[in-house]
Amino acid sequence: MGKMKALKKTGPCKGEIVDIDAPPIADDECLVRIKACGICAWDANTWKAEGPDPFGPGITGHEMAGVVAEVGRKSKKWKPGDKVVIYGVRSCGACPHCRRRNYRYCMKKSAIVNGFAEYVAAPWNRLLPMPRGVRFAEASLLIDIVGTPIHGLRRGGVGRKTTVAVWGLGPVGLGGVQGAKALGAPFVIGVDILANRRRAAERLGADVTLDPRQTPPVERMKELTEGEGMHVCLNAVAVDSVAQAAYDSLRLDGTLVLLAGQPQAKGQLEKNIRGSWYFHIDEYAKNLRLLRQRKLKLRPIISHRFPLSRAPEAFDLRVNHPDETLKVVITM
Ligand SMILES: [Zn+2]
Ligand SMILES: [Zn+2]
Repeated sequence: MGKMKALKKTGPCKGEIVDIDAPPIADDECLVRIKACGICAWDANTWKAEGPDPFGPGITGHEMAGVVAEVGRKSKKWKPGDKVVIYGVRSCGACPHCRRRNYRYCMKKSAIVNGFAEYVAAPWNRLLPMPRGVRFAEASLLIDIVGTPIHGLRRGGVGRKTTVAVWGLGPVGLGGVQGAKALGAPFVIGVDILANRRRAAERLGADVTLDPRQTPPVERMKELTEGEGMHVCLNAVAVDSVAQAAYDSLRLDGTLVLLAGQPQAKGQLEKNIRGSWYFHIDEYAKNLRLLRQRKLKLRPIISHRFPLSRAPEAFDLRVNHPDETLKVVITM
Protein backbone atom coordinates (compact mmCIF):
# COMPACT_ATOMS: atom_id res chain seq x y z
CA MET A 1 0.00 0.00 0.00
CA GLY A 2 2.96 2.28 0.41
CA LYS A 3 3.42 5.13 2.85
CA MET A 4 1.02 6.92 5.12
CA LYS A 5 0.96 9.74 7.63
CA ALA A 6 0.46 9.03 11.32
CA LEU A 7 0.64 10.85 14.64
CA LYS A 8 3.70 9.77 16.59
CA LYS A 9 4.02 10.64 20.26
CA THR A 10 7.49 11.93 21.15
CA GLY A 11 7.03 12.77 24.85
CA PRO A 12 4.42 13.91 27.39
CA CYS A 13 1.97 16.16 25.46
CA LYS A 14 4.28 16.16 22.46
CA GLY A 15 3.99 14.57 19.07
CA GLU A 16 4.60 14.96 15.36
CA ILE A 17 3.19 13.70 12.08
CA VAL A 18 5.48 11.10 10.53
CA ASP A 19 5.58 9.17 7.26
CA ILE A 20 5.61 5.42 7.86
CA ASP A 21 4.66 2.27 5.96
CA ALA A 22 0.96 1.52 5.85
CA PRO A 23 0.22 -1.66 7.82
CA PRO A 24 0.25 -4.97 5.90
CA ILE A 25 -2.99 -6.97 6.10
CA ALA A 26 -3.44 -10.62 7.03
CA ASP A 27 -5.68 -12.82 4.90
CA ASP A 28 -8.68 -12.31 7.17
CA GLU A 29 -8.19 -8.54 7.42
CA CYS A 30 -9.16 -5.45 5.48
CA LEU A 31 -7.13 -2.30 5.09
CA VAL A 32 -9.31 0.67 6.01
CA ARG A 33 -8.58 4.22 4.92
CA ILE A 34 -9.41 6.11 8.11
CA LYS A 35 -11.52 9.22 7.59
CA ALA A 36 -12.23 10.14 11.22
CA CYS A 37 -11.01 9.09 14.65
CA GLY A 38 -12.32 10.59 17.90
CA ILE A 39 -10.04 11.52 20.79
CA CYS A 40 -11.17 9.53 23.83
CA ALA A 41 -10.15 9.72 27.52
CA TRP A 42 -7.77 6.80 26.97
CA ASP A 43 -6.05 8.71 24.15
CA ALA A 44 -5.86 11.90 26.21
CA ASN A 45 -4.27 9.96 29.09
CA THR A 46 -1.83 8.36 26.66
CA TRP A 47 -0.95 11.80 25.31
CA LYS A 48 -0.22 13.14 28.82
CA ALA A 49 1.75 10.11 30.05
CA GLU A 50 5.53 9.95 30.40
CA GLY A 51 7.57 8.53 27.56
CA PRO A 52 6.57 7.35 24.09
CA ASP A 53 3.36 5.49 23.40
CA PRO A 54 3.66 1.70 23.63
CA PHE A 55 1.26 1.31 20.69
CA GLY A 56 3.47 3.29 18.29
CA PRO A 57 2.42 5.76 15.55
CA GLY A 58 -1.33 6.31 15.42
CA ILE A 59 -1.22 5.80 19.21
CA THR A 60 -4.32 4.52 21.00
CA GLY A 61 -6.90 5.92 18.55
CA HIS A 62 -9.77 3.42 18.48
CA GLU A 63 -12.91 5.36 17.48
CA MET A 64 -12.51 4.97 13.74
CA ALA A 65 -14.72 5.43 10.71
CA GLY A 66 -13.42 5.07 7.18
CA VAL A 67 -13.50 3.38 3.79
CA VAL A 68 -12.40 -0.15 2.90
CA ALA A 69 -9.29 0.20 0.72
CA GLU A 70 -8.05 -3.38 0.35
CA VAL A 71 -9.54 -6.77 1.17
CA GLY A 72 -7.54 -9.79 2.37
CA ARG A 73 -7.75 -13.12 0.52
CA LYS A 74 -9.96 -14.81 3.16
CA SER A 75 -12.01 -11.75 4.09
CA LYS A 76 -15.72 -11.85 3.39
CA LYS A 77 -18.51 -9.35 2.93
CA TRP A 78 -16.57 -6.15 2.11
CA LYS A 79 -15.29 -4.54 -1.06
CA PRO A 80 -13.14 -1.48 -1.64
CA GLY A 81 -15.20 1.68 -1.23
CA ASP A 82 -17.50 0.35 1.50
CA LYS A 83 -17.95 2.81 4.35
CA VAL A 84 -17.38 1.24 7.77
CA VAL A 85 -16.77 1.82 11.45
CA ILE A 86 -14.41 -0.46 13.35
CA TYR A 87 -15.47 -2.48 16.39
CA GLY A 88 -12.32 -2.09 18.47
CA VAL A 89 -11.71 -5.59 19.85
CA ARG A 90 -9.38 -8.15 18.30
CA SER A 91 -9.72 -11.68 19.72
CA CYS A 92 -8.75 -15.34 19.19
CA GLY A 93 -11.86 -16.25 17.20
CA ALA A 94 -11.97 -19.83 18.53
CA CYS A 95 -12.87 -19.79 22.24
CA PRO A 96 -16.46 -20.18 23.56
CA HIS A 97 -16.80 -16.40 23.98
CA CYS A 98 -15.64 -15.71 20.44
CA ARG A 99 -18.02 -18.37 19.09
CA ARG A 100 -20.84 -16.39 20.74
CA ARG A 101 -19.40 -13.24 19.14
CA ASN A 102 -18.79 -11.93 22.66
CA TYR A 103 -15.27 -10.88 21.70
CA ARG A 104 -14.90 -8.63 24.75
CA TYR A 105 -14.78 -11.69 27.01
CA CYS A 106 -12.01 -13.46 25.07
CA MET A 107 -8.97 -14.14 27.25
CA LYS A 108 -6.70 -13.25 24.31
CA LYS A 109 -8.41 -10.03 23.34
CA SER A 110 -6.56 -6.86 22.41
CA ALA A 111 -7.59 -3.45 21.18
CA ILE A 112 -7.64 -2.38 17.56
CA VAL A 113 -5.76 0.91 17.80
CA ASN A 114 -3.40 3.27 15.90
CA GLY A 115 -6.35 5.25 14.58
CA PHE A 116 -4.62 8.63 14.34
CA ALA A 117 -3.21 7.65 10.97
CA GLU A 118 -4.35 7.28 7.37
CA TYR A 119 -4.75 3.50 7.31
CA VAL A 120 -5.40 0.66 9.73
CA ALA A 121 -5.62 -3.12 9.32
CA ALA A 122 -8.61 -4.77 11.01
CA PRO A 123 -10.25 -8.23 10.84
CA TRP A 124 -13.07 -8.22 8.28
CA ASN A 125 -15.56 -9.40 10.91
CA ARG A 126 -14.89 -6.38 13.16
CA LEU A 127 -16.01 -3.94 10.48
CA LEU A 128 -19.54 -2.65 10.77
CA PRO A 129 -21.53 -0.86 8.07
CA MET A 130 -21.74 2.90 8.37
CA PRO A 131 -25.34 4.12 8.19
CA ARG A 132 -26.39 6.26 5.22
CA GLY A 133 -26.66 10.00 5.68
CA VAL A 134 -24.09 10.13 8.48
CA ARG A 135 -20.70 11.79 8.07
CA PHE A 136 -17.48 10.04 9.00
CA ALA A 137 -16.87 12.19 12.10
CA GLU A 138 -20.36 11.43 13.38
CA ALA A 139 -20.08 7.74 12.51
CA SER A 140 -16.89 7.52 14.61
CA LEU A 141 -19.13 8.18 17.65
CA LEU A 142 -21.30 5.14 17.00
CA ILE A 143 -18.78 2.80 18.58
CA ASP A 144 -17.51 3.91 21.97
CA ILE A 145 -19.62 7.02 22.49
CA VAL A 146 -22.99 5.44 21.67
CA GLY A 147 -22.24 1.73 22.14
CA THR A 148 -20.51 1.90 25.53
CA PRO A 149 -23.05 3.95 27.52
CA ILE A 150 -26.10 2.27 25.97
CA HIS A 151 -24.65 -1.14 26.80
CA GLY A 152 -24.26 0.10 30.38
CA LEU A 153 -27.86 1.30 30.46
CA ARG A 154 -29.06 -2.07 29.13
CA ARG A 155 -27.05 -3.79 31.86
CA GLY A 156 -28.78 -1.51 34.35
CA GLY A 157 -32.21 -2.58 33.06
CA VAL A 158 -33.19 0.92 31.90
CA GLY A 159 -36.68 1.09 30.44
CA ARG A 160 -39.96 2.94 30.66
CA LYS A 161 -40.21 2.85 34.42
CA THR A 162 -36.66 3.70 35.44
CA THR A 163 -35.34 7.04 36.56
CA VAL A 164 -31.73 7.48 35.47
CA ALA A 165 -28.83 9.68 36.56
CA VAL A 166 -25.79 9.98 34.32
CA TRP A 167 -22.71 11.04 36.26
CA GLY A 168 -20.18 12.76 34.02
CA LEU A 169 -21.41 14.51 30.87
CA GLY A 170 -18.43 14.17 28.56
CA PRO A 171 -19.13 12.52 25.19
CA VAL A 172 -19.85 9.10 26.77
CA GLY A 173 -22.21 10.72 29.30
CA LEU A 174 -23.95 12.66 26.51
CA GLY A 175 -24.41 9.35 24.70
CA GLY A 176 -25.79 8.00 27.99
CA VAL A 177 -28.33 10.81 28.44
CA GLN A 178 -29.66 10.28 24.92
CA GLY A 179 -29.53 6.52 25.30
CA ALA A 180 -31.55 6.61 28.53
CA LYS A 181 -34.24 8.67 26.82
CA ALA A 182 -34.11 6.43 23.74
CA LEU A 183 -34.65 3.34 25.92
CA GLY A 184 -37.73 5.01 27.39
CA ALA A 185 -36.55 6.43 30.73
CA PRO A 186 -39.10 9.03 31.81
CA PHE A 187 -36.75 11.09 33.97
CA VAL A 188 -33.04 11.60 33.33
CA ILE A 189 -30.66 13.68 35.44
CA GLY A 190 -27.19 14.65 34.27
CA VAL A 191 -24.36 15.60 36.66
CA ASP A 192 -21.18 17.46 35.76
CA ILE A 193 -19.08 20.29 37.16
CA LEU A 194 -18.61 21.83 33.68
CA ALA A 195 -21.29 24.22 32.39
CA ASN A 196 -20.69 23.51 28.69
CA ARG A 197 -21.35 19.83 29.25
CA ARG A 198 -24.48 20.42 31.31
CA ARG A 199 -25.82 22.70 28.57
CA ALA A 200 -25.16 20.02 25.96
CA ALA A 201 -26.93 17.42 28.12
CA GLU A 202 -29.97 19.68 28.43
CA ARG A 203 -30.07 20.16 24.66
CA LEU A 204 -29.86 16.39 24.22
CA GLY A 205 -32.76 15.57 26.49
CA ALA A 206 -31.71 15.65 30.17
CA ASP A 207 -34.70 16.67 32.27
CA VAL A 208 -32.50 18.17 34.99
CA THR A 209 -28.77 18.83 35.21
CA LEU A 210 -26.86 19.37 38.42
CA ASP A 211 -23.57 21.06 39.19
CA PRO A 212 -22.30 19.10 42.19
CA ARG A 213 -20.29 22.15 43.30
CA GLN A 214 -23.53 24.14 43.64
CA THR A 215 -26.10 21.53 44.64
CA PRO A 216 -25.45 18.40 46.73
CA PRO A 217 -26.52 15.87 44.05
CA VAL A 218 -27.50 12.96 46.33
CA GLU A 219 -29.89 15.09 48.38
CA ARG A 220 -31.30 16.79 45.28
CA MET A 221 -31.94 13.46 43.54
CA LYS A 222 -33.83 12.19 46.56
CA GLU A 223 -35.94 15.36 46.61
CA LEU A 224 -36.73 14.91 42.93
CA THR A 225 -37.80 11.27 43.39
CA GLU A 226 -40.14 11.49 46.40
CA GLY A 227 -37.33 10.71 48.78
CA GLU A 228 -36.43 7.38 47.22
CA GLY A 229 -33.44 7.98 44.95
CA MET A 230 -32.63 6.84 41.43
CA HIS A 231 -33.42 3.49 39.83
CA VAL A 232 -30.23 3.48 37.75
CA CYS A 233 -27.02 5.50 37.89
CA LEU A 234 -24.51 5.35 35.03
CA ASN A 235 -21.10 6.48 36.26
CA ALA A 236 -18.71 7.75 33.59
CA VAL A 237 -16.31 9.57 35.95
CA ALA A 238 -13.01 7.88 36.84
CA VAL A 239 -13.13 9.21 40.41
CA ASP A 240 -14.08 6.82 43.21
CA SER A 241 -15.84 9.48 45.30
CA VAL A 242 -18.16 10.17 42.35
CA ALA A 243 -18.95 6.46 42.02
CA GLN A 244 -19.69 6.51 45.76
CA ALA A 245 -22.06 9.47 45.41
CA ALA A 246 -23.81 7.70 42.53
CA TYR A 247 -24.21 4.62 44.73
CA ASP A 248 -25.56 6.74 47.59
CA SER A 249 -28.13 8.36 45.28
CA LEU A 250 -29.71 5.00 44.38
CA ARG A 251 -32.98 3.79 45.79
CA LEU A 252 -33.04 0.32 47.36
CA ASP A 253 -32.75 -2.35 44.67
CA GLY A 254 -31.41 0.35 42.34
CA THR A 255 -28.44 -0.36 40.10
CA LEU A 256 -25.14 1.45 39.75
CA VAL A 257 -23.51 0.76 36.39
CA LEU A 258 -19.79 1.42 36.44
CA LEU A 259 -18.11 2.55 33.24
CA ALA A 260 -15.42 4.01 35.51
CA GLY A 261 -14.69 4.53 39.21
CA GLN A 262 -15.30 2.22 42.14
CA PRO A 263 -17.51 2.78 45.21
CA GLN A 264 -16.88 1.14 48.55
CA ALA A 265 -18.98 -1.99 48.71
CA LYS A 266 -21.97 -1.71 51.02
CA GLY A 267 -23.36 -5.19 50.74
CA GLN A 268 -25.73 -4.73 53.65
CA LEU A 269 -27.92 -2.49 51.53
CA GLU A 270 -29.93 -4.15 48.78
CA LYS A 271 -28.39 -2.18 45.93
CA ASN A 272 -26.82 -3.59 42.76
CA ILE A 273 -23.46 -2.78 41.24
CA ARG A 274 -22.71 -3.88 37.67
CA GLY A 275 -19.50 -3.42 35.77
CA SER A 276 -19.82 -2.56 32.10
CA TRP A 277 -17.18 -2.48 29.42
CA TYR A 278 -17.64 -1.57 25.74
CA PHE A 279 -20.55 -3.46 24.11
CA HIS A 280 -21.50 -6.64 22.32
CA ILE A 281 -20.96 -6.30 18.57
CA ASP A 282 -24.60 -7.27 17.91
CA GLU A 283 -25.84 -4.24 19.85
CA TYR A 284 -24.61 -2.06 16.99
CA ALA A 285 -27.64 -2.93 14.84
CA LYS A 286 -30.00 -2.12 17.73
CA ASN A 287 -28.30 1.22 18.23
CA LEU A 288 -28.61 2.02 14.52
CA ARG A 289 -32.34 1.45 14.88
CA LEU A 290 -32.44 4.12 17.62
CA LEU A 291 -30.47 6.41 15.29
CA ARG A 292 -32.92 5.82 12.43
CA GLN A 293 -35.79 6.62 14.80
CA ARG A 294 -34.00 9.94 15.44
CA LYS A 295 -33.60 9.13 19.11
CA LEU A 296 -29.83 9.73 18.99
CA LYS A 297 -28.17 12.91 17.80
CA LEU A 298 -24.49 12.65 16.97
CA ARG A 299 -23.50 16.03 15.63
CA PRO A 300 -24.09 18.01 18.87
CA ILE A 301 -21.59 15.75 20.69
CA ILE A 302 -18.78 16.99 18.42
CA SER A 303 -17.32 20.36 19.40
CA HIS A 304 -14.16 20.39 17.27
CA ARG A 305 -12.67 18.75 14.18
CA PHE A 306 -9.01 18.96 13.26
CA PRO A 307 -7.12 17.55 10.27
CA LEU A 308 -4.46 14.95 11.10
CA SER A 309 -1.75 17.53 10.37
CA ARG A 310 -2.96 19.49 13.42
CA ALA A 311 -3.48 16.50 15.72
CA PRO A 312 -1.02 17.73 18.41
CA GLU A 313 -3.01 20.97 18.70
CA ALA A 314 -6.24 18.97 18.93
CA PHE A 315 -4.85 16.86 21.76
CA ASP A 316 -3.66 19.95 23.65
CA LEU A 317 -7.11 21.51 23.36
CA ARG A 318 -8.79 18.30 24.54
CA VAL A 319 -6.39 17.83 27.47
CA ASN A 320 -6.18 21.44 28.67
CA HIS A 321 -9.66 22.79 27.93
CA PRO A 322 -12.38 20.31 28.89
CA ASP A 323 -14.49 23.36 29.72
CA GLU A 324 -14.48 24.34 26.02
CA THR A 325 -14.63 20.94 24.34
CA LEU A 326 -16.97 18.02 23.97
CA LYS A 327 -15.79 15.40 21.46
CA VAL A 328 -12.72 16.41 19.45
CA VAL A 329 -12.44 14.41 16.23
CA ILE A 330 -9.39 14.06 13.98
CA THR A 331 -10.30 13.84 10.29
CA MET A 332 -8.15 12.54 7.44
ZN1 LIG B 1 -13.05 5.56 23.22
ZN1 LIG C 1 -11.53 -15.91 21.98
